[in-house]
Amino acid sequence: MTERLYDNSKLTTFEATVTSCSPAGKYYELTLDRSAFFPEGGGQKGDVGLIDSVKVLDTYEKNGEVVHKCTAPIEAGMQVCGEVDADIRLRRMQNHSGEHLLMGVIHRKTGFENVGFHLGSDDVTLDLDGVIPTETLIECEFLANKAIAADLPVTISYPDSESLKTLEYRSKLEMTENVRIVTIEGVDVCACCAPHVASTGQIGIIKVLSAESYKGGTRLHILCGLDAFELIRNRMDELSAISRLLSAKPEKILEQTKRLIDENDALKRQLADIEQRKAARIISSLSNSTRGSFCVFTEGLNTASMRDIANEAVKLTDGAAGIFCQNENGWNYIIASDSLPLRSMSAQINSALNGKGGGSDKMLQGSCMAERTAIEDVIKKLH
Ligand SMILES: [Zn+2]
Repeated sequence: MTERLYDNSKLTTFEATVTSCSPAGKYYELTLDRSAFFPEGGGQKGDVGLIDSVKVLDTYEKNGEVVHKCTAPIEAGMQVCGEVDADIRLRRMQNHSGEHLLMGVIHRKTGFENVGFHLGSDDVTLDLDGVIPTETLIECEFLANKAIAADLPVTISYPDSESLKTLEYRSKLEMTENVRIVTIEGVDVCACCAPHVASTGQIGIIKVLSAESYKGGTRLHILCGLDAFELIRNRMDELSAISRLLSAKPEKILEQTKRLIDENDALKRQLADIEQRKAARIISSLSNSTRGSFCVFTEGLNTASMRDIANEAVKLTDGAAGIFCQNENGWNYIIASDSLPLRSMSAQINSALNGKGGGSDKMLQGSCMAERTAIEDVIKKLH
């Protein structure tokens, strides 16, 4: 059985002897007499790195052995040097130990249990079996960061079954033998098989990104350590860019954004009012003494106003009424009729108008590129 070295989480290079190597698909499964590579477990992925110059793509457990998934074979009996990818391992430990720390604080404060944990590539989720009030969450986040600043020791132990009976610890599984206990001094005691930082200072920072209702409890999205720092740096860069766009100091951008939204709402209302009045003017000037099909040309109106005009214009014709509103490429149109089967005429109309669109027998809506005189010609002939 592989001697496991990852209880010392700072150990990332080690020497070992290859005990077996066998092909598995296009890769090789290699075992060592001792290894600092962590096989996936406890929500944490298997380590990656190098054994001599051979890439280790993943590490997992098989029949009690730590199996290294390698890109090339190494003969059994060879003395090798193993090197765990220290950056990836550190980031995973920061997120995982950070989760233990925050969860420990929350558990002590609220009694809630952790009923789900996912160490993803973009964030870490942890599920609580209760609804945590925002103020409590903010307080717990702060206390967890204070515990980081206090640089508390994180220790690994394997208590015997007698001591386990009296030990209070968080655990998702009912285990009585070989239970690996991860203790953050004074904050949390939890059963977990994964490597953890040696002291809380190594976590660097814990940031709760968001909280949402989930299965009657709360799902928290968090990030810790270097991953959290990089996210914060990216967000700060975005804020600086927004600040430059708004010509406002970063501390004023919220206020400035609210002001812009209010201004925008007021402008929209003003524009709607102008449109309504324009549509009303067009409606009051509508005339069609022949009651044949006819057109109205306009510009700068939205579809709702065009429809209002069409609904009135259609009353003045025994054929069809076309409302054409100029846009940057040609025209938006609405054609209405109470007597013609517009839907079945739609293809023919669009082809004549160099346009596209559709609708019902009573109303077609679309856009077209034809010249104004050509449009008048097409619409007049509708009967
Ligand atoms: Zn854990």
